[in-house]
Amino acid sequence: MKKAFVTGGAGFIGSQLAEELIKLDYEVHIIDNLSSGYRKFIPDGALFHHLDICSADAKDVIVREKPDVVFHLAAQADVTRSISNPQYDAEINIIGTINMLEACREAGRSKFIFSSTSAVYGNLNKSNISIEDPALPISYYGLSKFAAENYIRIYHEIYNLPITILRYGNVYGPRQTPKGEGGVVAVFLNRLKNKQPLTLHGDGRQTRDFIYVGDVVKANLAAIYNGNGQTLHVSTGKPTSIQEVADILKELHYADIDIIYSNSRPGDIEHSCLNNEHTIHVLEWLPEMDMKSGLKAAYNAINNDLF
Ligand code: NAD
Repeated sequence: MKKAFVTGGAGFIGSQLAEELIKLDYEVHIIDNLSSGYRKFIPDGALFHHLDICSADAKDVIVREKPDVVFHLAAQADVTRSISNPQYDAEINIIGTINMLEACREAGRSKFIFSSTSAVYGNLNKSNISIEDPALPISYYGLSKFAAENYIRIYHEIYNLPITILRYGNVYGPRQTPKGEGGVVAVFLNRLKNKQPLTLHGDGRQTRDFIYVGDVVKANLAAIYNGNGQTLHVSTGKPTSIQEVADILKELHYADIDIIYSNSRPGDIEHSCLNNEHTIHVLEWLPEMDMKSGLKAAYNAINNDLF
């Protein structure tokens, strides 16, 4: 039986990845300290290690179990928190990642698949960002993820550790909470549920590359066997404005929604869309979910408490 570790497996994306791995007959281990994840998200059949990724115990369990693959998703993923507490952000996202890399190096046989982010690019303001574009993060979160990516690259170069780095667009779907990165969909859905108006910062014309959680899970699974040594975008390659998201939700909600336009926030990125052509080729993967169906799935999940 193949063995996989999912750090952050009690979180939004990690728990749904763990679920799919179990369906594929993997022995699935989850390392999570439940700082933003939930015990109820951990799928039946997964072996749960309630540990911090920075701890010696988290490293030891990987060294002992010698998994075939480690999906490293555990992170401090709150951009605002990274600004107010850069030290904490760096400890989890950089030092924690190094601890997991050391574990894989010692285990000697694990592929390391890392969840990174479009936040590494900062405010490039390009309609179509390619992987060759410069990384110029404008938050400590983007910076710590980029630093982690570089540690991973160097572990690959020095120790030949098999790795794939996946830079996600804005992930959305069931189980997303407003706390994490790319939380605008979750923020809107929570406000609708609580019968509150939606607040759009700026004029609502800012665009994001929204990718459905199920498509992100599939990209991770494809990276088990493909994309060694590569950094890849996991995205749709299509920009969607925040206003469009609000409009689709309006349609789904069957009731009037008030929209309040407020000032744009300092540090907010105007446009972010990631070219995915190389990923489609390398991972033999395609994003399948259209925005309307994906938003419907997320809307139904939150309103029917389907977690
Ligand atoms: P999430 O907050 O739902 O999941 C993160 C999980 O990591 C949580 O279960 C949390 O309890 C756990 N965790 C945090 N710190 C930990 C620590 N020190 N030790 C052990 N566990 C710890 O976030 P998510 O949206 O599922 O994000 C997963 C990954 O994807 C993160 O690495 C994030 O940076 C990346 N990412 C997410 C998005 C997005 O739009 N959601 C976009 C780009 C990248």
